[in-house]
Amino acid sequence: MSRDEIINWNMREYDEYLTQKIDEPKVDNLVKPPADPSNYDRANATLLVLARNRELNKVIVTIQQIEDKFNNKYHYPYTFLNDAEFSQKFINGIKALLPGRELYFEAIDPKIWKKPSTIDKEKEREGIAYLKEEKIGYSEMESYHNMCRFYSGNFYKHPRLAKFKWYWRFEPGTNYFCKIDYDLFKFMEMNNKTYGFTISLYDAQQSIKTLWPTTLEFLSQNPQYLHPNGAFNWLTEDFMNKKKTTETGGYSTCHFWSNFEIGNMDFFRSEPYDNWFQYLDSKGGFYYERWGDAPVHSVGLGLFEDKSKIHWFRDIGYEHYPYYNCPNSDKCNTREPGPKSGKLGGPVCEVGKFSFPHLYDQNCVSNWVRYEMTDKELGLY
Ligand code: GDP
Ligand code: MN
Repeated sequence: MSRDEIINWNMREYDEYLTQKIDEPKVDNLVKPPADPSNYDRANATLLVLARNRELNKVIVTIQQIEDKFNNKYHYPYTFLNDAEFSQKFINGIKALLPGRELYFEAIDPKIWKKPSTIDKEKEREGIAYLKEEKIGYSEMESYHNMCRFYSGNFYKHPRLAKFKWYWRFEPGTNYFCKIDYDLFKFMEMNNKTYGFTISLYDAQQSIKTLWPTTLEFLSQNPQYLHPNGAFNWLTEDFMNKKKTTETGGYSTCHFWSNFEIGNMDFFRSEPYDNWFQYLDSKGGFYYERWGDAPVHSVGLGLFEDKSKIHWFRDIGYEHYPYYNCPNSDKCNTREPGPKSGKLGGPVCEVGKFSFPHLYDQNCVSNWVRYEMTDKELGLY
């Protein structure tokens, strides 16, 4: 098949899944909203966002949607993280939005956030020059490298998060389109899941050129960490984007997009993942390249976790510009292709829309289905 044929074939499959009418997961243990959310036996979970003071308005817009679609029924706490102190304006703005709720505003220890002194400046400069030449976004922004490193390996060690097991990461400015009438965290817990995602994309291979070879080094020293039921086919697939898999030395670059994710931090805190992260960190690729937290989470999950514990939340309508997961469900504020507007109020998505056509080659959600999901899992909705 030619490149265009592969992309079209892939998008047809994607369309087939996304246009299927779905509702809630068909399990018999969904926990429906309690009569009184202020008196509810919650899972050990927090909503989690890393943000800058200037992002207050965008944080509010997204929280309003998360509340409206889910959390006003459950009242899970929120944890706000920042590399600087949160301003009183930020704190007051959130408190006014969520009166009476459990809210944490936390600065991140500079020792955890900032670039380690062991990073070789010259090597870093060369790395950034290459990335810049390759037009890789944010390559010159040190704070972005800090952020990727923090979300790859250190967030789950933040003292405030130590008491929590589950997190739902969200980002300022993202949109949620569908009502969620069951407790997502308890769904994860009761159905033996570790990690949930909505969107899956290929990465810029230039940003992670040595991630996979470095990982293979680690694995040759620690073969016992490999999970026998890992997602190896998904990680190493080379049909869709051969160039990427070749240039990374064997990793397709397909990853769960981490700006929405629901995860069990005990997985990240476990010896295989955390030792691997320490190894990655010691090699400096968060600064010499631009290793993203999304490929790092994904490679870690694919290698060290049972693939049956990774869940595609087809029912969560989500957008982080310019990519969508827009299910065909009566619980979603959707429109068919065409001008008809949504029925629930709030932002609207178009059933099955992924992105602009020139970005279709980024989509690898159907790889997950094709390589790792069982029919039973696909029939869950
Ligand atoms: P993109 O989605 O890859 O374009 O990256 P974003 O700019 O959205 O950053 C990812 C997340 O990290 C967002 O929640 C940002 O608010 C947050 N973030 C990024 N850089 C910084 C930073 O330097 N300080 C703080 N406090 N948050 C940051
Ligand atoms: Mn973002």
